[in-house]
Amino acid sequence: MPYKWPADTDFALWELDVLDRACPACGRMMYICDHRYRRIHTLEGPVQLVCKLNQCPDRNCPGHATTKSPELEARIAPPSWAIGWDVFCWIGHRRCSRHRSILFIQSELLDDYAIKLSDDAIAKYIRRYQVMLAARQQDPKALRRQYESVDEIVLSIDGLQPEKGHETLYVVRELTQKRVWFAEALISATANEVQRLIAKAKEWATSLNKTVSLWISDKQDAFVTGIAAEFPDVPHRYCDNHFLRDLAKPVLEADRHAKVQMRRKVRGLRKIEQAVLKQRSAAVSTNLTNVPVATATVIVGPGNGPSREADSASAVVLEYCVAVRGILNDDQGGPLHPPGLRMAEALKEVRESIQRNLDAKKGGSQKSNSAVWPDALTGDSSTSKPSKSQSESTSRTSTRWPRPSNLEGGVARIAKRSSKS
Ligand SMILES: [Zn+2]
Repeated sequence: MPYKWPADTDFALWELDVLDRACPACGRMMYICDHRYRRIHTLEGPVQLVCKLNQCPDRNCPGHATTKSPELEARIAPPSWAIGWDVFCWIGHRRCSRHRSILFIQSELLDDYAIKLSDDAIAKYIRRYQVMLAARQQDPKALRRQYESVDEIVLSIDGLQPEKGHETLYVVRELTQKRVWFAEALISATANEVQRLIAKAKEWATSLNKTVSLWISDKQDAFVTGIAAEFPDVPHRYCDNHFLRDLAKPVLEADRHAKVQMRRKVRGLRKIEQAVLKQRSAAVSTNLTNVPVATATVIVGPGNGPSREADSASAVVLEYCVAVRGILNDDQGGPLHPPGLRMAEALKEVRESIQRNLDAKKGGSQKSNSAVWPDALTGDSSTSKPSKSQSESTSRTSTRWPRPSNLEGGVARIAKRSSKS
């Protein structure tokens, strides 16, 4: 169906001439016999092409029966398309490189370039783009150029299922150049079908005149038998990634169990927080009842020190609680750095941080607010008051919870204030 242009579209006019005007049959100078008008979308706006068609003037020349189109026309847009190559490449790149959905591409085209295309039209252009891309990807000349300096090649095959229930896409890759050679969707991956793909890889290697030094895949039966049949003398190695993934299963299971144990032991954060908040509001109400209205304007006075100190100290306790809660809820990490291991390391850091505070306060006066340190973290519920020798702020990269060492900075600041008062 021809593209419908709105009546008020403002087209830029591009006139195209035939550059080589000699008749291909007799060599005589051709003349303009007709015009072809085309309208296309480009990224720079709508364009009207005026293509001047040429013809040989000699009625007896075979060149008279055909017309010649301007050479540039095909470089701007393929025949009978409503979009230029630039829009076509833009769509293909958004789809194949950025993995955008058709609806997303459609709205982006409309918003950014005022190009209105139906989803069907975009799907059609994407299919054509994929065909061109595949043709280029498998172009023997380009392939030979890329493999000129390579002596031996390493091949791998694997199947992936983009969505459950869909056919599996089998991909053959060459690993020294990190290049996908070809891919095929197989509805039933029988040993014969898979072996056909492996045989195709063999043809490619032969046409490139390269030795295959290694095959890598998982242990799917069809791969093992297919590779053994087509490449009897080539070693076949089990893929590291699959190996690690299988090995990781029991490790992650044990890690999950350890996490449950730690969560069971480190609990009662809510209680601590409630106790601190209760102390705080009690302190505020005592202050309000004890301070006469006339002295309320005094900013610095002996009466203000301890209550501010207690307030900041309770803030530190609350921050420790936030830190520990963040640690308990953190599920990041993979088989190489399991979440439970990360949790254990982080909790140890908190415990050491609290211990440093406790050690440093020795010799200081007893203060009731730190009686709320969680038993589970310190193993010690004795009252303590942090002293000022305690700031060892390190420049760690941030995680999702505040670092204990930062909290210690806060403790040190309180200690400084209290030593002044
Ligand atoms: Zn002619």
